[in-house]
Amino acid sequence: MRKIVIIGGGFSGIAAARTLKKRLVGMKRLEITLVSERSHFVASPNLTNIATGDEKIAQITTHLSKLVSAPIKIEIDRVSSIHPLEKSISLESGAQLDYDFAIQATGTQLDWRGLEPNSHVIGCKKASDFLDVQERVIASLTRANEMLEKGESAIEALCTFVVIGAGPTGITLAAKLTVALKNRYLSEYSSELRKHVSVILVDADDRVLTEFPDLSPIAGMELERLGVDLRLKLKVENFNEKGLLFDNGETLDSENLFWCGGVQRISFLDEKRDRVCDASLRHLDYRELYIVGDAVDEQPITMNAHCAVAQGRLAASNIIADLSGRKASRWSNKGWPMIIDLGETKIAINSRGDVLQGRSARIYAKASRAKLLKEWMGSYSTWKFLMDEMLKKTSSTFFLEE
Ligand SMILES: Cc1cc2nc3c(=O)[nH]c(=O)nc-3n(C[C@H](O)[C@H](O)[C@H](O)COP(=O)(O)OP(=O)(O)OC[C@H]3O[C@@H](n4cnc5c(N)ncnc54)[C@H](O)[C@@H]3O)c2cc1C
Repeated sequence: MRKIVIIGGGFSGIAAARTLKKRLVGMKRLEITLVSERSHFVASPNLTNIATGDEKIAQITTHLSKLVSAPIKIEIDRVSSIHPLEKSISLESGAQLDYDFAIQATGTQLDWRGLEPNSHVIGCKKASDFLDVQERVIASLTRANEMLEKGESAIEALCTFVVIGAGPTGITLAAKLTVALKNRYLSEYSSELRKHVSVILVDADDRVLTEFPDLSPIAGMELERLGVDLRLKLKVENFNEKGLLFDNGETLDSENLFWCGGVQRISFLDEKRDRVCDASLRHLDYRELYIVGDAVDEQPITMNAHCAVAQGRLAASNIIADLSGRKASRWSNKGWPMIIDLGETKIAINSRGDVLQGRSARIYAKASRAKLLKEWMGSYSTWKFLMDEMLKKTSSTFFLEE
């Protein structure tokens, strides 16, 4: 019996599982297991909508069993280590899984950049983190409003919302939070409260979106137009009960600190080199192990859902090629778009460097999502997504429904 284990039930892991199932249908003496620490798939591009209350968690998640079905087994557990020499995987439950081939599709984890996280700051990565952001916003506004009604004026720290990190997640969160405060949250409270509320975006760099120089000036202008207060060239030294302390000695008082300061690939092996896999996505040292999606250490432009799906499929195809004695295919970056969602408008870039904004960018973003859906989910979902778009229903379910 040959065994294939896929670790991670995100975009790349599910794409790999579905490809294996489709291509290996009827193949005997083969066992495929998908190990996921969560029982559901999360459409992470929609996570910031949880913070703003634009979507509920149920709208952006779906149970793994709806996306991956028998004969593929689903194991809800957390991988604690991979032993590539023994070709086995240890799970947190204590169980052990042997493999002939494994696909690591575990994505990234928060990078605190040497800082010590504590209860004063919310790290924004999982769905529950973004829900915590929403709860913190509502709790702070409610307390500030009560204090105003009692004639107390020391409410600034409660009304100051600070997003740390002006990368793709940070700028999207800052922009959408500003819009949500204006259009929704603040309508529940006294008009006086409005005057005290601000959203501040902090970054150590001298501009937003440093990794995407073409988008940086457009994003900066758009954030200012929305009313986000940009505080650049400020490096956070620590988070405390008062707010932020910067390395130049300055402080910023706030009870609402949201960390979007970076992510790093999840790694189970002691990898000291820059690149961990070759062009066929095989680990350079352990040839039965494939690395896909955000877990691949590459340029940030490739860290997107389209790329993750394509890599999941490629790794699955290369395992099939290996099983049938054929040559593996190589990964080529087809220039998937980088879409930055700023709430009221979207800006996008493709790998050739064309920058779109406003209406054309919105159409491009929708078309790109529809393409992902069509490739991944098949024609019914695409049709449903397009119908929903036409009827102006939420577009968030496009990743999920079959
Ligand atoms: C806020 C936000 C907005 C984004 N917006 C966009 C966008 O607009 N467009 C776009 O294309 N991309 C966007 N992205 C990026 C996109 O979501 C990622 O590139 C994509 O999710 C990567 O897929 P993946 O399969 O590599 O990882 P993930 O989707 O992160 O999946 C990894 C899975 O592995 C599981 N896992 C991790 N460790 C373990 C373990 N030890 N054991 C078992 N399971 C484990 C995780 O729980 C998770 O289910 C966004 C990301 C975020 C966070």
